[in-house]
Amino acid sequence: MHRSGAIMAWNVFKFCTALRSLGSVMILLVLGVIGVTYYAVVITNYGPSLTDGGVDTLIALLVLILFHSLLVMLLWSYFSVVCTDPGGVPHNWRPEIDEERGENDPLTDLEPADLASPRIRFCRKCNQLKPPRCHHCSVCGRCILKMDHHCVWVVNCVGALNYKFFLLFLFYTFLETTVVTLSLLPHFIGFFSDGEIPGTPGTLATTFLAFVLNLAFALSVMGFLIMHISLVGGNTTTIEAYEKKSTPKWRYDLGRKKNFEQVFGTDKKYWFIPAYSDEDLRRMPALQGLEYPSKPELDGQEF
Ligand SMILES: [Zn+2]
Ligand SMILES: [Zn+2]
Repeated sequence: MHRSGAIMAWNVFKFCTALRSLGSVMILLVLGVIGVTYYAVVITNYGPSLTDGGVDTLIALLVLILFHSLLVMLLWSYFSVVCTDPGGVPHNWRPEIDEERGENDPLTDLEPADLASPRIRFCRKCNQLKPPRCHHCSVCGRCILKMDHHCVWVVNCVGALNYKFFLLFLFYTFLETTVVTLSLLPHFIGFFSDGEIPGTPGTLATTFLAFVLNLAFALSVMGFLIMHISLVGGNTTTIEAYEKKSTPKWRYDLGRKKNFEQVFGTDKKYWFIPAYSDEDLRRMPALQGLEYPSKPELDGQEF
């Protein structure tokens, strides 16, 4: 028993170390896909079409403006997810004082029985109390506030402080890959026609590769985006959705509008950019990741 447990722990450790070292490779992979796509769309196909004149110039201009604007938003969101701390538990964090019990210092009064209660959870690995909706990430090796999942593509955990940025990254990736797929479609169909195709073997191969990659990303990101839209609508993280399968009523579900605002903020000007207004950050505790408004009648529910 003891030995198999040790072997399993070693395997998990090796797996987590492998995921961590995969980090920079994944960033290079993302930048590589963007590079191939840029070469196919801008350098090979639509850049040269700018001088064709007539409708071709107009279409090329439209594609290039769309492509570059979406690329800026995509990269901005991507590096915001990569570089933003998803949210850790502040040192010596303690739960809010329970007014009914009238305690002065909740931590010193906590009995082992309290720690076992569903309301107050304790992380044995970090040796600290866990705020609501917080989970321990074995890849990061620490507790993450409102952890959604550990994402290898962004080499970071997705949690309370960068979830919006992650959703925007999905959103702009879907739009960009769709624009690229549609704009390269006529060139892709051209491969299967009988006529002579202009271009060197290198440029033709890049166009083919860029089309296939972007189509694959557009389809898979669309599925992921639809899943996350429904999660935001129900104020649930991926982990919570997995854990609360049998719970029909969810204590954090305050209605679609409020659930959306808890992730995106209330200021419409900030909905499409990876940032929050100062006012929202001041007024909404949910954006700091430690406290979440909930339905009082369902307060006993906790995971
Ligand atoms: Zn932990
Ligand atoms: Zn993590």
